[in-house]
Amino acid sequence: MNFTLKHYCCSLCGKDETKPVLTKQGFSIVQCRHCGFVYVNPRIENEQLASIYRHNYFKNKDYGYAGYEQEKKLRIKNFERWLKDAGNYIAEKKPVYALDVGCAAGYCLALMKAKGWEATGLELDEEMYTGLKQIGYEVSKLMLENFESGKKFSVITLFDVIEHIPGISKAFSKLNSLLADDGIIIMVTPDYGSWQRKLLGKRWFQFKPIEHIQYFSKHSLKMFAERNGLKIVHQSACGQYADTGFLLNRLNYYHFTFLARIFEKALRLLRLKNRFFYTDTGSLFVVLKHK
Ligand SMILES: [Zn+2]
Repeated sequence: MNFTLKHYCCSLCGKDETKPVLTKQGFSIVQCRHCGFVYVNPRIENEQLASIYRHNYFKNKDYGYAGYEQEKKLRIKNFERWLKDAGNYIAEKKPVYALDVGCAAGYCLALMKAKGWEATGLELDEEMYTGLKQIGYEVSKLMLENFESGKKFSVITLFDVIEHIPGISKAFSKLNSLLADDGIIIMVTPDYGSWQRKLLGKRWFQFKPIEHIQYFSKHSLKMFAERNGLKIVHQSACGQYADTGFLLNRLNYYHFTFLARIFEKALRLLRLKNRFFYTDTGSLFVVLKHK
């Protein structure tokens, strides 16, 4: 696929002086010399980026997901855990209006509805959007920055989403305007400051410069939040559920094939196949409220 690349200034400070971090898949990942924000530059321009998310994003070999729905169980366990972890911050007041940005197959929406919340999803992918509409879910295929609603949302979730969004300042400002007075925003995003990134370097799974166009740290997230009327009330390291197949895939991805073979044998001997594990993958779990 041919991509049209465009040069962008730093989304955090607006300046245009960077130092190289690494190159991957022909893209340069750079760090702003002024504020330290890490992003892909030049990157795929906005229109083409949007079209990537609109068509076959969840069944794709070059980017996105090869088979998003094949890992349905794991994904649901992740969403369950993340909603539970933010539970103490959610106001009891009913009704709870919830918005899931990048809702994909609607697994998180289903969990929200099961809690009795009125859930709305945003999803650009045509196939996912149509599927959700057909089963009666409230879903919009607008980008976050163009989405309007008469409601204010008590819970807004962006699970593995903000690293994909161009115009990140506008996105934070939009989130602020959609959030109810006592509402919360829950985010999970790869952590550039994580030990996994430091240890694995260029091989870190989260360096996907076609679609992960920026890499947040605790510091940059705080800066984006604060300049858009939000504050971080909780921040912690975060991972995801994996089954043995997932772990073996990851070991092979990192070229630890020898380790993968030993691991597979051990699992067979210990009869641990088909078990779930929660693994810290180097992401950040963040809860935000109005300032
Ligand atoms: Zn900067």
